[in-house]
Amino acid sequence: MKKKIAILSGDGIGPEVMQAALKVLSTIEKRFNHEFQFEEALVGGAAYDKQGEHLPKKTLEICENSDAILFGSVGGPVSEQGSEKWKNCEKISLLGLRKHFLFNANFRPAKIYSALADICPLKNKLIASGIDVLVIRELLGGIYFGEHKTEIVNQKRKAIDVAEYTEDQISSIAHIGFQAAKQRKQKLVSVDKANVLDTSKLWRTIVTEVHSNYPEVMLEHMLVDNCAMQIIQNPSYFDVILTENMFGDIISDTAAVLPGSLGLMPSASLNSNGFGMYEPSGGSAQDIAGKNIANPTAQILSAAMMLKFSFGLSEESKIIEDAVEKVISDGGRTIDIAREDLNSISTLQFTERIVNIIKHL
Ligand code: NAD
Repeated sequence: MKKKIAILSGDGIGPEVMQAALKVLSTIEKRFNHEFQFEEALVGGAAYDKQGEHLPKKTLEICENSDAILFGSVGGPVSEQGSEKWKNCEKISLLGLRKHFLFNANFRPAKIYSALADICPLKNKLIASGIDVLVIRELLGGIYFGEHKTEIVNQKRKAIDVAEYTEDQISSIAHIGFQAAKQRKQKLVSVDKANVLDTSKLWRTIVTEVHSNYPEVMLEHMLVDNCAMQIIQNPSYFDVILTENMFGDIISDTAAVLPGSLGLMPSASLNSNGFGMYEPSGGSAQDIAGKNIANPTAQILSAAMMLKFSFGLSEESKIIEDAVEKVISDGGRTIDIAREDLNSISTLQFTERIVNIIKHL
């Protein structure tokens, strides 16, 4: 298979973990006789340094002419957010790409590797039956995309944020959710606030209607406040969680705590044509950048998601996932997931172990 991939490494640990993902992809390419053409493009502070803007037109053109986007991370040190170079860097780069390509579905899997149960912040008894949750979040609607304004009424300040959802927006993401659930444990929990919000009432109605196309999937509706509790109290209960933009933002970050490190969390954003962007859930981790200690797992698993979702290469994707799991269960740990009794290894060493396993699996 011949595929063109736009490589947007970005800032901080972005370039280091991207190199790791590219090594893994090149190994897969050789082993399975594919041809991956990597086209590098600037984004974030790296783009600002060279071209004076965070999301240059040239970068968008490279992405448009590719079969998928592999994204690293953007953004500067937290203490320098106000500087010219870093101001609105993440917003311009990421929201810019989301809007440009109309990515309406965000996938964030949160899995606990049994070998890493000790770094999950929950008690062992809560995670004993394993955790493998996929949060699917609608990305282009709801309160984040409605009108925002602050005004003075009767000499007092008043702020308004409008939440809107159309039938089509909900049905599009609902189909995506059910299709994903169909390929997993066939259980979908749709999260809303239908006891209060009209957008949620419509959400519940449309999700129920779309469900009639997927009778094999079990559907449950859950209020978002209950979901926030259940995901901590009983995370094994969930398979696929489907929810709207703002609830998804909060629930996916809650679920992100479960595996124990942001360095383990991949993500994917897709549009209705199936075009996708794949990236770690964490940021540019400027505190550890340039030290060869970042955990490349999130970037490598994002590449694995790309192979499966965008190119239909499920076997190749699974081999990468299995190789990561094997390295971890054999005791390979970058510093973020290290145990006191095990020495941590570098980004490069961790990657080499994955590559060796892929070569011999
Ligand atoms: P962060 O996600 O970069 O880091 C939070 C913590 O997690 C840090 O201690 C970091 O060292 C650790 N961490 C993250 N990824 C890791 C990895 N792969 N291996 C080991 N440890 C890892 O969040 P932050 O420090 O609040 O933000 C830094 C910058 O990243 C900011 O400029 C922020 O705007 C940006 N940001 C970008 C994205 C993105 O590009 N998608 C997402 C979130 C934050």
